[in-house]
Amino acid sequence: MPVVLGAIADDFTGATDLCNTLVRRGMKTVQLIDVPAAAAPAADAEAVVIALKSRTIAASEAVAMSLAALDWLKDAGARQILFKYCSTFDSTDAGNIGPVADALLAALGSDFTLYCPAFPALGRTIFKGYLFVGDVLLSESGMKDHPLTPMRDPSLVRVLQRQTKGKVGLVQHAAMAQGPAGIAAAFAQLRAAGYRHAIVDAVADADLDAIGEAAADLPLITGGSGIALGLPANFRRAGLIGDGGGADRLPKIGGKAAVLSGSCSQATLAQLAHMRERAPVFAIDPLAAAAGADVAGQALAWAADRLGTAPICFAATAPPDQVAAVQQKLGRERGGALIEGVMAEIARGLVSVGVRRLVIAGGETAGAVVQALGVTGLRIGRQIDPGVPWTVSLPTSADQPPLALALKSGNFGAPDFFTRAFAALEEATA
Ligand code: ADP
Repeated sequence: MPVVLGAIADDFTGATDLCNTLVRRGMKTVQLIDVPAAAAPAADAEAVVIALKSRTIAASEAVAMSLAALDWLKDAGARQILFKYCSTFDSTDAGNIGPVADALLAALGSDFTLYCPAFPALGRTIFKGYLFVGDVLLSESGMKDHPLTPMRDPSLVRVLQRQTKGKVGLVQHAAMAQGPAGIAAAFAQLRAAGYRHAIVDAVADADLDAIGEAAADLPLITGGSGIALGLPANFRRAGLIGDGGGADRLPKIGGKAAVLSGSCSQATLAQLAHMRERAPVFAIDPLAAAAGADVAGQALAWAADRLGTAPICFAATAPPDQVAAVQQKLGRERGGALIEGVMAEIARGLVSVGVRRLVIAGGETAGAVVQALGVTGLRIGRQIDPGVPWTVSLPTSADQPPLALALKSGNFGAPDFFTRAFAALEEATA
């Protein structure tokens, strides 16, 4: 069956999060990294999510990238487009959510869409158009101090209205009581009154299911990963996708196993401590790398007689005081880029000696490694812990072996994640 849902995500880990939601609701899903030059997705993908890095770039560039993604998705057969952004509506008054949605609407020949970043399981809820993070308004949450997109106005109607010339309205939570038909009626009312954009309240997954059902005929939907909860059922009712069985099955990937850990967040520190008790760990020394030592070469030599089907680990992961010391000597960006470069080189070396199963910790680290390995697409499988699924790389050429990859953003995962992930892979693959 062809692709029915096409999604455009404004960052990499957000794209994976969306894929994970779709797979859990029984849609066979592929994540593509940037807009592909040509290659087609895995033949049986029902949903394709294109991961862009467009959240904080200039609005005009974000629009151009998103339109290119739209063209590709339409060519692949997508009947409905989902624009995915962060559950905290990360954006500035200059964009990019409003401008990208406006451009997608125009390109789709449509005049109305909805906005619902709610993600109740993570504490993001919307009531009367106000976004809450846990028990506080967005403007009182940590997001008020975000370095790139500080969110100081909790009213999504006002935030979005500053990003678009079209009228922004609100579908209040009261409409949920009337179910999907009531929500669809609220959309129709707003549309008739000349509104182009509707913020939609949602405080529970049941609301998101109902909103998804009400949005079945909208060419464009926008929101966080939660807005996808209700969509697979629409396609299934219409007979456009399978029954959901086996959506999370991945091909079996044998071969050697390793963990690359470049995240220094609390969860990763605990996971590494757990790993140290159970497997060999090579510590990557950023200052030695800065002084010109061939740290990747040393790591690969160390690995030579340790590699096997039981995972070994390479870690730059360090507690805050050590990170601060490195950043003081090298600078934050230079230090980070240097370590990511070492990680990427180690990853290439590992694959060249038969490693096929990799867990990578850290969003930036994962991005650098995936790029270095030439991976352009991922088939999404079963989740290991919330938000972190196993994936298998899509083939780009005949001589590129498929890799099983688990890309964990810093704060995700239980303390035994590194070791449990590999056991979970056995169950997740056919
Ligand atoms: P997270 O998902 O936890 O934010 P990232 O990989 O996105 O993890 O970011 C972590 C950053 O910290 C990367 O740029 C990485 O190279 C850098 N880093 C890793 N180890 C160290 C260290 N010991 N000292 C300084 N920076 C480090």
